[in-house]
Amino acid sequence: MEDQPQEAIQITGLTKQYNVGENAVHALAGVDLTIFQGEFVCISGRSGSGKSTLLNLIAGLEQPTEGKIVMLGKHIERMTESQRIRFRRKNMGFVFQSYNLMPQYTTLENVALPLAIRGIPFKERAKKAMEMLELVGLSSHEKHKPTELSGGQQQRVGIARAIITRPRIVLADEPTGNLDSKTSAEVMDLLTSIFRKWNTTFLVVSHDKDVSHYTDRAIEVSDGRICKIVEGDALK
Ligand code: ADP
Repeated sequence: MEDQPQEAIQITGLTKQYNVGENAVHALAGVDLTIFQGEFVCISGRSGSGKSTLLNLIAGLEQPTEGKIVMLGKHIERMTESQRIRFRRKNMGFVFQSYNLMPQYTTLENVALPLAIRGIPFKERAKKAMEMLELVGLSSHEKHKPTELSGGQQQRVGIARAIITRPRIVLADEPTGNLDSKTSAEVMDLLTSIFRKWNTTFLVVSHDKDVSHYTDRAIEVSDGRICKIVEGDALK
C-alpha cells in the first residue's frame, strides 16, 4: 500500500490586519492552504499582494489576526514567542534574496552559525559545516569572506547555512532575485536536488517563472487571497 502524503503545513482561515492610523489594511484576507511533506510550492503575486505577510506568518515571525497554522502537527499560532523561536530553529531553514551573510565571518563560520546558536562545540560544528560546503560545491572556499565570493557563491553559502540543521521545512524569499539566469538555474538545481533527496518541504516566494518550473505547485496571491493554483505538469 502506498504511503499517504503527510501534511507539513495546514493553513485555515488565515487573516492579517494592520491598523494604519484610522485605516485597516487587510494584508491577508482569508487563506486556506495545505502543503505536504516533501512538496515544493512557489508563491507569486504583485508587490503588496500579501506574499511576505504569508511567509512571515508561516515562519512564526508575526501573529495572525485570525486563523490557524498547523506545522508538523503543532499549532504555531498558539505558541508563545520563545516556543516559536525553538520550533523555528529545530524545524525550519531560511534562504534570503540578499543572502544575509555575516561580512566579518568566513564561509565556514557563516555556515556553522545555526549550530553555534544551538551551542554545538566548535569541532563538531566545523566538521558539519565542511560537509555542507562540500554538498554545495564550495569546500575550497571555506576561508573566504562573503565579499570575496560571487553572488551565486554567496547564495550557495546561504543554502549551506539554511540546511546545516537538516530542517524539515525551508522557506525562501526571492532566492534568485539578485542572480543572472544561468546562476539562478544552478542555485535552483542545487536546492531542489538536495530537497528531493531529503524530502524537505520547500516554500519559495518568487515572481520568476523559471523558479516556478522547479516546483510541484504554483500559487498566485492577489489582495491577500489565493487567486490561482497551477499544479504539476502544467508548470513544466
Ligand atoms: P508583498 O510581499 O506581496 O509585496 P506584503 O505582504 O508585504 O506584500 O504586504 C501586503 C499589504 O500589507 C500591503 O498593502 C502592505 O502595505 C501591507 N503591510 C505589510 N506590512 C505592514 C505593516 N507592518 N504595517 C502596515 N501595513 C503593512
